[in-house]
Amino acid sequence: MDQASDKGSVLRFRLLGVEINVHVSWVLVALLIAWSLASGAFPVLYEGLPRSGYWLMAIVAVIGLAVSIVLHELAHTLVGRAYGLSVDRITLFLFGGVAELHEEPKAPVAELLMAIAGPALSVVLGLAFGLAAGAIKAGGGAPELAGAFAYLGTLNLVLALFNMIPAFPMDGGRVLRAVIWMVTRQADRATRIAARIGMGFGVLLMVGGVALALAGGLASGLWWVLIGLFLRTAAKSSLSDMEARRRLGGHPVSEVMARRVETAPADMTIDSFVNFRLYASHHGMYPVVQADRLIGVVEPDDLLKTPRDQWAHTSLGEVCKPLETVAQARPEEDAFAVLERMRRGGGARMLVVDRGQLMGLVTLQDLVERLALAMKFEPATS
Ligand SMILES: [Zn+2]
Repeated sequence: MDQASDKGSVLRFRLLGVEINVHVSWVLVALLIAWSLASGAFPVLYEGLPRSGYWLMAIVAVIGLAVSIVLHELAHTLVGRAYGLSVDRITLFLFGGVAELHEEPKAPVAELLMAIAGPALSVVLGLAFGLAAGAIKAGGGAPELAGAFAYLGTLNLVLALFNMIPAFPMDGGRVLRAVIWMVTRQADRATRIAARIGMGFGVLLMVGGVALALAGGLASGLWWVLIGLFLRTAAKSSLSDMEARRRLGGHPVSEVMARRVETAPADMTIDSFVNFRLYASHHGMYPVVQADRLIGVVEPDDLLKTPRDQWAHTSLGEVCKPLETVAQARPEEDAFAVLERMRRGGGARMLVVDRGQLMGLVTLQDLVERLALAMKFEPATS
């Protein structure tokens, strides 16, 4: 699991086999929304209630919003699962919800249905909340609940509409990409067009936000700028992801790895290693081999943990990191898949190992340099 994105998680649970993760940034936004509803919007919309009534409404509204977003993402997830795409988890964060998908749909139909499922569920939720609000009001129920539900009804419909803006990677942008993909039968071309529209829309939101801020709506304007920036970055990174997949995908790691890797024998003492290997070649890591078999790695800094007076009679085999704890790749593994593993926290280098034999070493730098070369020598055709 990706350790980096676990930071800041305040609540984690499983629902229908999917991990739901609530990030602290969402809690902050939720508090902000609750405060602005209780002190601003609700007192204007529903006059004559006590202060506590507005806070009650705001709390129901924010909890309802969280549930609505999770259900929206769950709809994407379940449709994706029906097409064999696994979603690692759903995260609620600063800008709403996201279902973390680590592979791309293989066919446009899967992409289309998966993208539409979320907004479709939001429409259903919007109507359900609206009907419930009407029923509570007609039955003489609590006006606080009716008000909160009416708000949630509208909000879900607005969410559905906003998500259907054809700006990749928003849902509407995914729908657009699927449609272009179906018509042209070129997935990469579809991604390129949809991502460019997404980037353009991000810029438009930022410009609109600045204009809004100048016109006096500082808080909303700033918010637009942030969302615009986020969308532009997301669209841009999906574009570079696609370029990386196009150029590295289908190439085995053995094509990219360095074959000549300096190893150290397991029976060598720390003393000789430092004097005759480390000082001569000063690498950051040395694979340790015993009778041609890889048994682990030694990183120079780790050796400092052994007291110096023991260096002359301690072998590398005794102090090396065991192989199970070292990041590895197989020589036939797809280079893009390895790049993805590194980006998801797998480290910046991996030993390439085949049945206990060291075949080479692949680093993030190797992959990035290979990618840069491919982009220079194999320009895009469509
Ligand atoms: Zn969605």
